[in-house]
Amino acid sequence: MACPILFLQNDSLTEKTKSENKKEIVFFITTIFLYCEFFFCKKMDECRFCDIVNGKINDYKIWENDKFLVFLDANPANAGHCMLIPKKHIDYFFELEDELYYELFFTAKKLAEPLRKAMGAKRIGIAVVGFDVPHAHLHLIPLHGSNELFDPQKFSKAEPEELKKIQDILIESLKNI
Ligand SMILES: [Zn+2]
Repeated sequence: MACPILFLQNDSLTEKTKSENKKEIVFFITTIFLYCEFFFCKKMDECRFCDIVNGKINDYKIWENDKFLVFLDANPANAGHCMLIPKKHIDYFFELEDELYYELFFTAKKLAEPLRKAMGAKRIGIAVVGFDVPHAHLHLIPLHGSNELFDPQKFSKAEPEELKKIQDILIESLKNI
């Protein structure tokens, strides 16, 4: 037969454990929440593309209007490889508001022909990747006929002098868009 005192002790121990567990769960959830908030704010602060939009980084801008900005990719697949971004910070491409999403593709269409002509390309390829920079962007890549978009060997760091030269050409080509 079990001792009643032992039962009492076990029950009070169980209550104590439950209470401690609750405290631990609340602490755990609070920590996760604070961490996420910190991480998100840090991401916003550290967004390289927002720094380009805000002029903190003087990158190779070639065109802009009130909503969008285009600049050269420093690791191009081909000469003239550039990035079209919304000025508003939105991480995931498919979270762009409908209107901004349509306008972005319409802007890409307007830019494609002068970009193609200026770079002597056959076509302009487009690509959306996803995890490289947490700011929605569309790659616009002059293509010369092969599978350049899917050849990682093609992506290599360009020399600043080369980027500057292409920047000047493209600023001129896109100035009336
Ligand atoms: Zn951003």
